[in-house]
Amino acid sequence: MSNIEQTPVAQEIILLKLGELVLKGQNRRSFEDKLLGNARKLLRKHGNFKVYSRQATGYIEPKDDSCDMDSAYLALSKLFGVAGICRSRACEKTPESMLETAKTYLKDTLMNARSFKVESKRADKSFPMTSIALSQTVGGDLHDAFPNLTVDVHNPEVTVYLEVRETNAYVHVNPSPGAGGLPVGMSGKAISLLSGGIDSPVATWMMAKRGLTLDLVHFFSHPYTSPESKEKVLTLAKKLTPWCGKLHVHIVPFTSIQETLMRECPEDLFTVLMRRFMMRISEALAHKLHCGALITGESLGQVASQTMMAMQATEAVCNIPVFRPLIGMDKTEIVHISKKIDTFDTSILPFEDCCTVFTPRHPRTKPSLEEVQEAEATLAIDEMVMDAVNNIEKVVLEP
Ligand code: ATP
Ligand code: MG
Repeated sequence: MSNIEQTPVAQEIILLKLGELVLKGQNRRSFEDKLLGNARKLLRKHGNFKVYSRQATGYIEPKDDSCDMDSAYLALSKLFGVAGICRSRACEKTPESMLETAKTYLKDTLMNARSFKVESKRADKSFPMTSIALSQTVGGDLHDAFPNLTVDVHNPEVTVYLEVRETNAYVHVNPSPGAGGLPVGMSGKAISLLSGGIDSPVATWMMAKRGLTLDLVHFFSHPYTSPESKEKVLTLAKKLTPWCGKLHVHIVPFTSIQETLMRECPEDLFTVLMRRFMMRISEALAHKLHCGALITGESLGQVASQTMMAMQATEAVCNIPVFRPLIGMDKTEIVHISKKIDTFDTSILPFEDCCTVFTPRHPRTKPSLEEVQEAEATLAIDEMVMDAVNNIEKVVLEP
């Protein structure tokens, strides 16, 4: 009893079904530790919660009145690593109380369903009924209370879960899908090249979903591009923070490199030469920040610089992996995700990007590595890269 007095009885808790069940051993443990750590960090803003896991389920329990359950639920629905999420109502550990709670708390769901079953779990092994007996008792009474329902133990529309735990019992239904993927940070750190377009925010989101902690880099061509175009990129980055967590955006002054390339190199190779500098600068930054890969929003064949040969020429300057999660996706598929993660409306705002300002009239679609290297042979490449890296402006964005 003293235990119950110490812990305020939770009226409602949030349950997380932890994802990627294929993970085993050490990976599994690091998955859960990362995920719970990320959940704690994210919940700080929403009140005082207790966060722990048991048998591939995360438990999020409010400790006091400071907790905003609606905003916490919304935030947790964007937490990578979670396969399913639901809210659950606490009640007394008696079949009567569990039945009453199911009847009121799940009323709308049960009234609108056709078939159901009840599944019980006993974490408290001293509970006097077996799981099967508890499911049968509460299931039978629910069936009487909702004549619209038939019992279907194999393929029910709704499963009512009863969980008998140490201090309380909990009642809930099937979880909604969670954000999926791996907990941010589990796969290490990488740098994502963020432009103001539709693609790179989606690429960034996809790689955060695979467990990468990200730093963002943006190439900015003042005064050819306006302050609004920079604001647009920061707005996009901000929109990614609910998924990615805190983000640092490294804004690289790119004008003088672009002007040098315009002045000294063949115009039809400008785009690929410019992209090689983007990769060199990003890689130099990656070394500084201990990041192990670069991410771009390229998709095969979408524009002249995204052919196989152009990508080979771009990638040749990199010694770390370049991840291109959109490489095999159609624009409609990319747009679909950008709408889902709410970056689309910002991406289509009509501010120019550093690439569009200097686009050559006839960009080469099949530049060979040799001619590209030849075209930049007279440039002071290392100095140009170091100069750009040393003049980076950093903006920190909180979720
Ligand atoms: P996006 O929609 O992401 O702008 P895009 O289809 O316009 O992509 P490109 O302009 O060729 O394609 O750029 C390809 C990738 O290079 C981008 O997805 C992004 O990762 C990176 N990139 C392009 N411009 C910039 C920039 N100004 N700052 C940072 N990264 C950039
Ligand atoms: Mg672009």
